[in-house]
Amino acid sequence: MKGSSAMYSIDEDKNRGIIQENEGKVDSSFIIKRPELLAPAGDLEKLKFAIRYGADAVYIGGKQFGLRAKAGNFTFEDMENGVDFAKQHQAKVFVATNIIAHNEDLKGAKDYFQKLHAVGVDAVIVADPALVMACRDAAPDLEIHISTQASITNWKTVKFWAEEGIPRVVLAREVSIEEIKLMKERVNIEIEAFIHGAMCISYSGRCVLSNHMTARDANRGGCAQSCRWNYDLLSEAGNEAYADTSYTMSSKDLSMVEHLPQLIDSGVDSLKIEGRMKSIHYIATVVSTYREIIDRYCQDPQGFTFKQEWKEEMLKAAQRSMTTGFYFGQPTVNDQLYGLPEKMQQYQFVGLILDYDAKTGIAKIQQRNLISIGDQVEFFGPRMARFEQEITQMWDENFEPIERAPHAQMNIYVQVKHPVSAYDMMRKRK
Ligand code: SF4
Repeated sequence: MKGSSAMYSIDEDKNRGIIQENEGKVDSSFIIKRPELLAPAGDLEKLKFAIRYGADAVYIGGKQFGLRAKAGNFTFEDMENGVDFAKQHQAKVFVATNIIAHNEDLKGAKDYFQKLHAVGVDAVIVADPALVMACRDAAPDLEIHISTQASITNWKTVKFWAEEGIPRVVLAREVSIEEIKLMKERVNIEIEAFIHGAMCISYSGRCVLSNHMTARDANRGGCAQSCRWNYDLLSEAGNEAYADTSYTMSSKDLSMVEHLPQLIDSGVDSLKIEGRMKSIHYIATVVSTYREIIDRYCQDPQGFTFKQEWKEEMLKAAQRSMTTGFYFGQPTVNDQLYGLPEKMQQYQFVGLILDYDAKTGIAKIQQRNLISIGDQVEFFGPRMARFEQEITQMWDENFEPIERAPHAQMNIYVQVKHPVSAYDMMRKRK
């Protein structure tokens, strides 16, 4: 029941995003509606990790019409595999086709949408009305979501797209929670909003900094992130640089980790994490943390209390310090990075668990970064409590004892103090 204000309770038997109508009765021990957790996936491996670590849906890019020219991006074969994997895990796959198109970009669009439809993706994310029309002509059954690139910031624009038969809009990052509430009150449409990741210093889709500085079109997948460069800030006289304000246009990264209940209460339907170029460690950390917060809040909104460890967990993968962006009003100077960015990312992903032998307590691990005897490491995964330990015993693939595992992707065995499972991760403090 899209965009409805009907009451729902969570079906406790299902572990992922399934909701049941509660015949209009209000049960305050349940949240009205559990929003979707939507994660980025730059390639097939990241797609699988995002879903295993708790995403209800992922968004990916194909080889054309997307905005992350430098992300791995999916071939149609990868997409097919991704869609199969997602379906097995009751998750959805959306494809970003959100360039602001010029005449020459429209060539091949209909064919592309037909192929996406044939592959079985659940929706495409589109910004340009010309591509909306192309999609409708070529694949009328393919669901269209309007991209954040369309800069939707008011309820009348949301209404416009609803009247066009669009089932979902992705809002601009520059809206407040109060504005989202009004949109949900007035328009029967699904609303998707960013909760985590990098912020543009300009409205997404309306920035030409990169075009001017590097001749790379941000709105056709080529953004050089010029807003994050080091600039000299001159006085009016034009000759005096303010030494401590080198990064005059760089925003802190968005994180709503401490404020998810307010956002969920606004009625938002999908909570989106930014970052198709981010690592699997980042995706696993951020997705699993939001998964836990959403589930705990929705299961018992009145008894919910925020755990400081959730914020600490985010900081293990953070690249910049964090801000709540526009959700509580206009950002201030405190939401910008003016000086040198702080050193973040205190943890490094060093190993992926491939297998575990419960009898011996030994895990088979694929090395992802240097591991040495004596390292203090932390294990975490989608279904386990995190724990730390020192690496005391380690063997190579032939079970010969080793002091170091220096080679990328070499398989090793490590004695672990608590059970682990395939796809859990091992990380160490940098
Ligand atoms: S230059 Fe910065 S503000 Fe402009 S599109 Fe790129 S990331 Fe966004």
